This record gives sequence, C-alpha cells and structure tokens, in this order.
Amino acid sequence: MLRPDTPRLLLLLPTATYRTAAFVEAARRLGVVLTVASERPSTFQDANPGGLVTLDLSEPDRAAAQARAFAREHPLQGVVGVDDDTAVVAAAIATALGLRGNDVAAARAARDKHEQRTSLATAGVPVPHFRLFPVDEDPRRLAAGVPYPCVLKPLRLAASRGVIRADTQEDFVAAFERVKRILEQAGCATRSILVEDFVPGREYALEGLLLAGELRVLALFDKPDPLDGPYFEETIYVTPSRLPAEEQRAVAACAGRAAAALGLREGPVHAELRVNGSGPWLIELAARPIGGRCSGALRFGTGGSGLGTWASLEEIIVRHALGMQIPSLERESQASGVMMIPVPGAGVLREVRGVDEARRLPLVEEVVITAHPDQELVPWPEGARYPGFIFARGDTPEAVEAALRAAHRRLQFVIASD
Ligand code: ADP
Repeated sequence: MLRPDTPRLLLLLPTATYRTAAFVEAARRLGVVLTVASERPSTFQDANPGGLVTLDLSEPDRAAAQARAFAREHPLQGVVGVDDDTAVVAAAIATALGLRGNDVAAARAARDKHEQRTSLATAGVPVPHFRLFPVDEDPRRLAAGVPYPCVLKPLRLAASRGVIRADTQEDFVAAFERVKRILEQAGCATRSILVEDFVPGREYALEGLLLAGELRVLALFDKPDPLDGPYFEETIYVTPSRLPAEEQRAVAACAGRAAAALGLREGPVHAELRVNGSGPWLIELAARPIGGRCSGALRFGTGGSGLGTWASLEEIIVRHALGMQIPSLERESQASGVMMIPVPGAGVLREVRGVDEARRLPLVEEVVITAHPDQELVPWPEGARYPGFIFARGDTPEAVEAALRAAHRRLQFVIASD
C-alpha cells in the first residue's frame, strides 16, 4: 500500500528516448511514486493504473487538460520533461496544476531556435547575428547576401541534426538544399532555415539547475575536439573544465543571463557556449537535462567517502520538481568524461569488436553500444544518433580524455555499406 503522503511525479517520456532507466531508478531510490506519461497507450496501462498514462505530448494544452483529469484520481506533486518537446509540455502541466516549473511562454521561447535568438539578442546576451529564410526561397539569390562563414540550421531539430557550416556561396546553396531535405525527412512543420554567423572558438557545455530563477552550475564540460564543421557531431565531454576560473564564471554568467532573458526559472538547463577573444557566446540553451546517456558522467555528493551514496543528475531533478530538499549540488571531486562515439560511416552495423578490451583499460568505467546489429548508421548532418558511449573517471581531466581516446581506438565497427 502506498502511504498517502508519498509524492507522485509525472515523468513525460517521448517515445524515442533512452533516459527511462535513470529516472525510474532515481524515483525508486527516493521512494517516489512515478507515473510515466507517453504518447501511445501502453498495454500495461490497465494492469498498472496510476503508473502509466497516455497524454497527447504534441499538444501541450491538451496534454495539460489530460493530466489534470488524471490528477483528480492520482494527485500529482511534480512533473518532469526529459527533452526539448516534453519541456514545453511539462511547463503547461505545471502551470495547469500549480506545480513547480517554467512558464509555458519561456519554455516555448527556449524550444524554437529563432525565438530563442530573438529573445537573447533583445536582452543583449551575446549571440551570433542571425536571419530567417523560408525554405522555398531561391538559395542562389540568398547566398550573395549572407556573410561567410555561416551556419545553417533547422529551428526545431536536436543533436546538431541538420546543422551545417558554409564557407562559400556554393557551400550555402548545397547546405540550404540539404537542410530542406532533412526538414522534409523529419516531417518538420516549420519550413524555415535559420542562418547565423559562424562563431569561432572552443565550445563548452554547461549543465545547470534553475532554483527560483537562479542558475546553479552543476558541471561545466570542456569539448576538447574542435567543433568547426561543416557538421557538428559531438564527441568528448570532460569535466571539470580546464578553462581558467574567471572565464568559467563568465560562461556561467552568460548562461544565467540567457535563462533569465528567456524567462526560465525552474529546473534543469543544458547550454552550449563558445569562448573566443570576445568572451562567451551563447550558442543554445535548452530547458532540459543533458541528452542521451551522458548524464551517467555526473554524480553528486560524497558517495565515495563512505558517508553515503552518490546522487545522480536525475535524482536532483526529481527532488527539485517535487520540492524535496536537495542534499548537495556539488559534483564529485574526480574528473569525469563521456565520449559520444562518432558514427564511423554510413551503412548497416554488423558488429562492434574490441568492446571488452576497451572496457578493461585503466579509468574506463563503461563502454555502452546502443546501436544494435543490423541497425542502419546514419552520419551527420542527416543522422542524430550516436552508436554508443564511453565513460571514464580519473584524477585529472587530461587523464580522463586520454582514457576515452584510448578506449575509442580499441573499437572496431564492422559495417556493410552497399
Ligand atoms: P542542436 O540543438 O541541434 O544541437 P545547435 O544550434 O545547438 O543545434 O547547434 C549544434 C552545434 O553546432 C553547436 O553545439 C555548435 O557546435 C555548432 N553551431 C551551431 N551554431 C553555431 C554558430 N553560429 N557558430 C559556430 N558553431 C555553431
């Protein structure tokens, strides 16, 4: 039997996600009852009333009405979205039910790259110059009017899908046509392409938590591989950052200003920033946690000292959503990193060799191959799924980075590319 005061959290899961396990585990550890909301009715729903609910996640207002009806029978104390779309739905539900969360307008402004750029530029947050073009314009005509290098991108895709750098007018025309095809493949309703000045510099990812409008930095990751394009598949993230402390403060301040400019006040944020001679530039800020499996690189508190157990990022997010006390926002003292394994080429994956050998290397904690045999691997910019992840921990970021690279060198992807 549930104790009547056991809090219930509504977790919004888009269908294509691999984040479920970490949230389910976090809820279990915290003794929180979880209701998982997804788009499609589940056959388990009847067997587990209260544990599962079907919501129309593509329509935030409708989903909020459905959640309100559900909450009459199963009162909800918190709501969490895990990706860009469900962040907007979570905001709508939080507003409808009076739960902790963001304003819908703020979540929407973060969700759309053009709206985000407009809000940030208006507020004076450093962002690249940008312009929006309808996809049916003639790229040959547009190409003469944009500065180079520039970056073309869709408004609502994620994981750098469809993000392409162009250095010349010829590149621009090819990239424009390519982004247009990617929008069609992805079934995107918004038929516009954002074109921005290319911001040179090193890139950093900031993981944070907003508490009543104040940004608390949970981790700043270096991205040691240059991300200069023409496509922007990620590889290595390592924390703590090797950036001097003063620049780290500038990066955090820039992300904090961006969150405030968008009107975001509560919950997880994941921001990408570039740093060059002019200081930090905000590339993107999302009202959600770091994507995919990467949160496994983060743990908080003092679990290793025998005084307790580590808290995961998901536990912090669940506690925050429910208004529970958060024991620590301090990341562990060890360096930690993750490599999003690059797509080794286009084709059908047959097998991955060397995984056990890679796992046995010093500092390497885990090598997870998420692609399955016979899966088609699609390189960027059309693709958006990494075939796997490597995790390492050690005394220094340098050692962690070296371990990730060494493990990656052991892997051999066998691909049929006919
Ligand atoms: P997504 O949400 O799909 O990840 P982003 O807008 O964050 O799209 O772009 C993905 C990546 O592309 C960034 O992390 C960055 O490496 C690169 N990028 C995007 N816009 C720019 C820009 N204006 N200048 C330089 N690099 C950029």
